[in-house]
Amino acid sequence: MIDLKRASGISVEALAERIKAIGFRCQRCGDCCSGPDAEVLVFPSEVRRIVSHTNQPWQEVVEPPATGVWDREGNFHTLEWMLRRRGNGCAYYDAASGSCRIYPARPDICRTYPFYLDGDELRVSECRGLGMEMDDNEALQIAQELKRRLISEILEERGARSRFSGFAAADRPERPTGVCIVHDGEGAHRLPLGRGEH
Ligand code: SF4
Repeated sequence: MIDLKRASGISVEALAERIKAIGFRCQRCGDCCSGPDAEVLVFPSEVRRIVSHTNQPWQEVVEPPATGVWDREGNFHTLEWMLRRRGNGCAYYDAASGSCRIYPARPDICRTYPFYLDGDELRVSECRGLGMEMDDNEALQIAQELKRRLISEILEERGARSRFSGFAAADRPERPTGVCIVHDGEGAHRLPLGRGEH
C-alpha cells in the first residue's frame, strides 16, 4: 500500500477524467451485492455509520469473516469485519426492488464500485454498467470517494499495526473453547465464537 503523503497527493480531477472516459452507470442488476463472492469488508467507522442509520446493534450489522487464524488458547483471530449476509448475498440488498436498504449509509466500497485504487493506480472490477455515459459530477464524486477510501484504508492499517499485540498461532483445536478476536484499527474486539469459523 502507498503511504499517506502519496495518497493525499492524488489528483481527484485527473482521476475523475479517467473514470469518465471509462464510463459507468449502475444497471441495478445486484451482481455486486449478491452471490458467494459478495463479502463486503468494512472498517469500524463504516459499521458505526450503518449502526446509526439502522439503529441495529453492531453485531447485527457485521460479523467476523470465516477466514482467520487460531491461537494456542483456542481463540480465533481475524483482521476484518464483514457485513452480514442473508440468503445469497448482502443482508441489505433488497432483491425485489433491486436496491440497497442502507443506501445513504452504505460502505465505501459500495460507493465506489466497480472502481478501486491499487496504490495510486485506478482499477476496475467486472460490471455490467461499465462503458455507460456519465457526467463530470458523477465521475468527480466517485473519484473523491476513491481517494477518501484509500486514505481511510491507510489510516486503518496504521491503527491496526500499532494496536496489534500478536499471538502464538496453532492448529484449529478439536473443540474450540475460546473467543473470536477481531483486530482492527481501534483495537482487539472479543466476541463469542460464531458461525463455523474454520
Ligand atoms: S451495503 Fe448495499 S450496496 Fe453494499 S453490498 Fe449491501 S446491498 Fe449492496
